[in-house]
Amino acid sequence: MADPLIELRGIKKYFPVREAWGRIRHIHAVESVPLSIFPGETLGLVGESGCGKTTLGRTILRLYEPSAGNIFFKGEDITRVNMLPYRRKMQIIFQDPSSSLNPRMTVGEIVGEPIDIHGLAKTREERRERIAALLAKVGLNSEHANRYPHEFSGGQQQRIGIARALAVEPEFIVCDEPVSALDVSIQSQIVNMLEDMQAELGLAYLFIAHDISVVRHISKRIGVMYLGYLVELTGSGELYKNPLHPYTKTLLQAVPIPDPVKTRSRERSVLEGEIPNPMESPPGCPFHTLCPRAMGHCAVTMPDLAEAAPGHRVACHLYTN
Ligand code: SF4
Repeated sequence: MADPLIELRGIKKYFPVREAWGRIRHIHAVESVPLSIFPGETLGLVGESGCGKTTLGRTILRLYEPSAGNIFFKGEDITRVNMLPYRRKMQIIFQDPSSSLNPRMTVGEIVGEPIDIHGLAKTREERRERIAALLAKVGLNSEHANRYPHEFSGGQQQRIGIARALAVEPEFIVCDEPVSALDVSIQSQIVNMLEDMQAELGLAYLFIAHDISVVRHISKRIGVMYLGYLVELTGSGELYKNPLHPYTKTLLQAVPIPDPVKTRSRERSVLEGEIPNPMESPPGCPFHTLCPRAMGHCAVTMPDLAEAAPGHRVACHLYTN
């Protein structure tokens, strides 16, 4: 197997919160996530809102500084270095294209800005040609360069965001829920386009989604996060065929299926209990307050993310010897 493009060791991200009487407490957004992403692969990352997946994506890019742990890019520790040279190689596509594009800049200026920052065009003509080529790559044309973001639909705005990310010829892109703000009919166009780009340019993606069905087809492997922890990580097909973690099973049961007979016969589990406050992470397994299979020691000891089957890692005491 190739060396990882991105490797995370012990990454944590806590956000300080000042309470009314002055005490500072911390939201534990990401807790020690061990993860590697390989060149040219798509790693899907799923979990409900607030589980830490977006924070993790932004921490990898150092848009948020990690509270602990190390981030490696191609084997180099980039946790504390000046990120400017690495920004070229590591980009992000945001969830809401309308708020991620500067409304006062034309599309040409938006796509041209990273080209200028990184000095990628020697002449004005080369810059113009680069912008035209990027717009063509995402299905727009050079006339669009003179228009403003509000003149475009949501799908077209996301295409502009993708052109901006591609402008610096990255090797890795965090796709932070890139289709969840779009109509269903447009979602597959954007996902197909991202897949085509990956095939052409050899990009690696961290594809973040709260809807597990969105990442299924695009991802080679999928990680599941709960309350800041990575609780399961395996191949996309394996996760759907053989989910192990009780939380992953709950997520999959929540995915609607188009067949009413199958829907009726499907087992559904109703979770009872409280989701812990992320400022008061309970000891032991983070899911023990809701888990239908919790045992006595689940509330005491945190399970390791361990290999339960070849290529299938899960953090659950049900699978430890
Ligand atoms: Fe449930 Fe225990 Fe497994 Fe946590 S470790 S998911 S509480 S069985």
